[in-house]
Amino acid sequence: MRVCDIGEFDLIERLKGIFGADAPPGVEVGIGDDAAVIQPAGKARLVVTTDALIENVHFLTRRIEPRLLGRRALAANLSDVAAMGAQPRYALLVLGLRSDANVEYVLELAKGMAELGAEHQTRIIGGDITRSPAALSITITLVGEAVNGVLTRSGAHPGDLIIVTGDLGGSAAGMGIAANPSAAASLPQEAREALLKRHCDPTPRVREGLLLARQGLATAAIDISDGLAGDLRHICEMSGVGASLDPEAIPIAHATRLAAAWLGQDATVLALQGGEDYELLFTCTPANADAVVAALVPTPVTSVGAILAEPGLRLVGPAAERYERRLHSYDHFRAPSGG
Ligand SMILES: [Mg+2]
Repeated sequence: MRVCDIGEFDLIERLKGIFGADAPPGVEVGIGDDAAVIQPAGKARLVVTTDALIENVHFLTRRIEPRLLGRRALAANLSDVAAMGAQPRYALLVLGLRSDANVEYVLELAKGMAELGAEHQTRIIGGDITRSPAALSITITLVGEAVNGVLTRSGAHPGDLIIVTGDLGGSAAGMGIAANPSAAASLPQEAREALLKRHCDPTPRVREGLLLARQGLATAAIDISDGLAGDLRHICEMSGVGASLDPEAIPIAHATRLAAAWLGQDATVLALQGGEDYELLFTCTPANADAVVAALVPTPVTSVGAILAEPGLRLVGPAAERYERRLHSYDHFRAPSGG
């Protein structure tokens, strides 16, 4: 069945069934009116972000199932709100669909979104459907609530430690596997599945962002969507500082190392430059380092460098020279990037 066979209003009814027609707590008016009405909890400040995914630019429909695509689209927004230390709550969804788009595909996409939303107390409370001439587009606006302080990119000070959650490079390795699944069959199944999940179904660090904000432990934070080097640069620029980074300190999973070798790539380069890991990158004072580890248990955290007064990103440690040139050649070709 195609979208043009049932029409926009019928499709909206079916989407309502998936997202839930009842207004969630905090929502006075939900799906179905001209606009949604939100009553923020207490003195919460609203944290708002938006992100667009376009077919053939950000994803290929033949490489990702619709349910996972729905999850991934929402995950990118959840991760941005997490990096601000806020609780994601409400999302608006704008879908651009070809008139011959498959209805079942669209509903699967919506189910994935609703599922991941439920895992993070987030509901889709409105949106729009529009006809798109060729590509599928998914644009989500997410509203979060910050009851405590918010985390920004601009608070890092010289002497602060640079910390990352989890491990890096897994999403880039998973993308390499997704691009060539039959050849990747030579990798251990467990590693292959773990990395595909990292790429197609990343876990936003919502709990960790909230804990850091609630306990006032981070001086600056960002989620890793562009790769460690690029995102660390965003913190440095916004904070007016520089940074030293030890490539050998970067946490990299064994599965990522196996896949990197199979891809003929350096796992550390995947971690530095591959994006979409959606881990948190944040800074804290050395005095708070132990409190950070304790606060985020069981999530692993690793110190990878330190903030410097002098601007610029400097690699340090025994492997510095090996990665220095790559980091700079990467810079020349790198397009400016925001979110
Ligand atoms: Mg971000």
